Amino acid sequence: MYPKTFQKLINNFSQLPSIGPRLAERLVLHLFKQKKEIIDDFAKNLLALKNLKSCQRCYNLAETKYCEICNNNNRNQKIICVVEDPLDIIALEKTKKYQGLYHVLGGTIENEEKIKYLNVNQLIHRIKKEQTEELIIATNPTTEGDLTAFYLKEKLKSYPIKITRLARGLSTGGDIEYADEITLSSALINRQKIK
Ligand SMILES: [Zn+2]
Repeated sequence: MYPKTFQKLINNFSQLPSIGPRLAERLVLHLFKQKKEIIDDFAKNLLALKNLKSCQRCYNLAETKYCEICNNNNRNQKIICVVEDPLDIIALEKTKKYQGLYHVLGGTIENEEKIKYLNVNQLIHRIKKEQTEELIIATNPTTEGDLTAFYLKEKLKSYPIKITRLARGLSTGGDIEYADEITLSSALINRQKIK
């Protein structure tokens, strides 16, 4: 039996995705062997997560009211790239090929019920207010991602906006988050007009 503190931490780590009980044990043991300052820093950063917010404009991760991208006036304010979650933004930013803004949907449409949990109305509100000229739909190349792209296209039928979708260089069923920079850059550059 482990000491209580140890066991509690193992339980915490086990709750993380892809971490089983054995790996959790190893991680906790590893941390235990670290210097006090390293453990303090780890704990401090973990607690600081509580202060991280969603950007009030695009729903990206933010430390203030708006995220760094929204706060940057040098970005093209007329293009919005729609993604499923904030990790997709990180992947797209790594390509350094995109200078517009983003909008995080918060998932995909799997069924009617799910739609109300996505930031779709907020997106429409932004398009009207910000007079967006192009919407790049960068949902994952999965059935749900396709359905979401189709739904957005239909929803925005009457708006004077160009809608494009990332090119099909990405493997079907794959995830933007894990795509390499070259594939993602070319998917972005060769994006196809769907409206
Ligand atoms: Zn933002």
